[in-house]
Amino acid sequence: MKIQRIFAHRIELPLHETTYRWSGGKSVTVFDSTVVGIETDTGRVGYGEVCPLGPFYLPAYAEGVRAGLRELGPHLLGEDPRQLGKLNRTMDAALKGHPYVKSGIDIACWDILGQSAGMPVCELLGGRYGDSVPLYRAISQESPEEMARKVAGYRAEGYRRFQLKVGGDPDLDIARIRAVAAQLESGDRLVADANTGWIQHEAVRVAKAVRDVDVYIEQPCLTYEECLAVRRQIPHPFVLDETIDDLGMLLRGRADLAMDVVNLKISKLGGLTKIKQARDLCVSLGIGMTLEDSWGGDLATAAIAHLAQSTPPEFLFSTTDFNSYVTVSTAEGAPQRVMGRMAASRAPGLGIQPRMEVLGRRVVEVF
Ligand code: MG
Repeated sequence: MKIQRIFAHRIELPLHETTYRWSGGKSVTVFDSTVVGIETDTGRVGYGEVCPLGPFYLPAYAEGVRAGLRELGPHLLGEDPRQLGKLNRTMDAALKGHPYVKSGIDIACWDILGQSAGMPVCELLGGRYGDSVPLYRAISQESPEEMARKVAGYRAEGYRRFQLKVGGDPDLDIARIRAVAAQLESGDRLVADANTGWIQHEAVRVAKAVRDVDVYIEQPCLTYEECLAVRRQIPHPFVLDETIDDLGMLLRGRADLAMDVVNLKISKLGGLTKIKQARDLCVSLGIGMTLEDSWGGDLATAAIAHLAQSTPPEFLFSTTDFNSYVTVSTAEGAPQRVMGRMAASRAPGLGIQPRMEVLGRRVVEVF
């Protein structure tokens, strides 16, 4: 089987909540997502999705996905999409870095592998654990009262895990954490994700001010060194996200005992093949994980569900259902949240059928 054509659609994904805000005054109102298709000489087509959280979250931007596909695509024509290790080496040899560009191609090739084998992707990624996986809900940065109200509402919908967007004014963030924690009950999990927004002394101060609160602190500062310094001064369980973007950083974090949980995103690592390697290493090392992506719609959520459900449950801290945040559905068969949980499809591959009428015309085509 050979790759014959690589194409992409650009799709806008507005939010039910209108705007998503996080540290440093950053926000997104309409997500710019790229749905990647890989067509083979047998007529089989696989799909993937890459949706950066705006151009200012990770070193990734939406138009960069499309430009990268035009650059990388010609090197992949004629390759077997099912030979994923080999395909990833070809991608890395042809284009240095840019893991998010490679992610959509890699996901689409896993979809083809699953369809060819007659197996769901999660079974190929290691096996299906349980019937469903627990979701967290990201709570956009607002006033403490509004964030507490949102958490109470999403809790009533079945979510039990919440990720607060903090990383703003330290006093306001202390109030945000306290207001939300007051809504929670035994068994709920609360993460305060600063998304690199605090400087070192602010992070230590906020954490010490909520010393009595059952909360995880996620990525307080910009650099790994600052995060490590904070981690060593505070009592809370600690999550690293933005600074853990490859295996080298994961191993460094482990050697320094810099985190209890790591947030791994498919496009941050460069696709399902590479995140599987990091995920399996975390399982061997005993590190909990939030498994997700930077954002996306039905296709990204399907890929996340297969990854999450193929992870031993004791290591899966949480995952997320981005398709429930956005107002546009791009595929049939994508996971649908039920009482704060979702399940990977039991159909072969990712188990989704793109809605071509929603995706519209192709904006990239390499053949
Ligand atoms: Mg995070």
